[in-house]
Amino acid sequence: MKKIIVIPGDGIGQEITASAVKVLKKVDEKFNIGLEFDYRDAGGTSYEKFGTPLTDEALDACKKADGVLFGAVGGKKWDSLPVHLRPEKAIFGLRKGLGLFANLRPTKVYPELINSSPLKPELVGGSDLLIVRELVGGIYFGPRCESELKDGVEQAWDTEIYSVPEIERITKLAFETAKIRRGKVTSVDKANVLAASRLWRKVVNDVAKNFPDVELSHLYVDNAAMQLVLNPKQFDVIVTNNIFGDILSDEASVIGGSIGLMPSASIGELTSLYEPIHGSAPDIAGKGIANPMGTILSAAMLLRYSLNRDDAAQAIENAIDKTLADGYRTADIFTDGFKRVGTDEVTEIICNNL
Ligand code: NAD
Repeated sequence: MKKIIVIPGDGIGQEITASAVKVLKKVDEKFNIGLEFDYRDAGGTSYEKFGTPLTDEALDACKKADGVLFGAVGGKKWDSLPVHLRPEKAIFGLRKGLGLFANLRPTKVYPELINSSPLKPELVGGSDLLIVRELVGGIYFGPRCESELKDGVEQAWDTEIYSVPEIERITKLAFETAKIRRGKVTSVDKANVLAASRLWRKVVNDVAKNFPDVELSHLYVDNAAMQLVLNPKQFDVIVTNNIFGDILSDEASVIGGSIGLMPSASIGELTSLYEPIHGSAPDIAGKGIANPMGTILSAAMLLRYSLNRDDAAQAIENAIDKTLADGYRTADIFTDGFKRVGTDEVTEIICNNL
């Protein structure tokens, strides 16, 4: 059996993970994967029950699982708690506890939703790219100083540090992922200015020697930010450090036109975690109108990357393509002329399309 820990979290997290589990159960019937589901709390929901956003027991259960499906955490109710008790602490706890060193964010432009993109259809049509972001190193985790006096003037500083093994690990993952995609890697750095970027580029070039079938190119981050909106179709896999990946993946996420459709994977040393990129959307929680597609596509990534079941993952992706092609739209992507459906209804349709 393959054990999946489901962490619904807060707000729409409850509704969208329920949808994804329905789809996974249907896929399991078809492909005989042997999925087993177990539930844990995180975020505000966990705080209400246990006084902490993530219990050690929940983290341990995740460590022993084959994959974690995560909804979202957060809500106004918990915004005034001390920092260590806030819902988002659960995400950091899971990242650290599971050693989630890479974040994978695909951006695909669905032909049916092309007009929702803020970019011109002729620019974005056919875009299908994946950002592989280093998640546990770099300037977000380097030594820092919040405030000090230098020559009587207040200053603050952060430090970008990367070691060779850290760069090798993320680069290998990017190349291996490119091999099962279109065989192209673009490494993004700022090697014209930063020492850590120069090491990054050297190590990426070294790792590339072991992947002769994958085409490698390098871009400075300022140019990459421009190219993403000028010609996103040129990219297959983009690999980059923590801070550049944070910024570029948010930029890339709007290209597709809907936040509700965007999945992500955080690859771990122990267990990997899969979640939609959006938050807990308290404004629509409980109304039955949330778009579950981002979470369902995250479940497809779990099948592909943690269980090696590309066939089942592809079946889910095809079912979503067909649902959109047949004109079904949740409120967030609805426009005149299409069929408006709620969370449960669209889930049912996706299951029937499997
Ligand atoms: P959000 O992503 O929750 O919502 C932004 C907007 O998009 C809202 O109008 C919302 O209704 C809409 N939206 C988001 N997902 C949708 C979906 N699946 N279907 C339809 N509409 C959808 O971001 P926010 O409002 O800035 O944050 C709300 C809470 O979520 C905050 O507490 C924040 O800290 C938390 N958050 C959590 C995560 C996470 O758990 N990974 C990520 C981002 C934000």
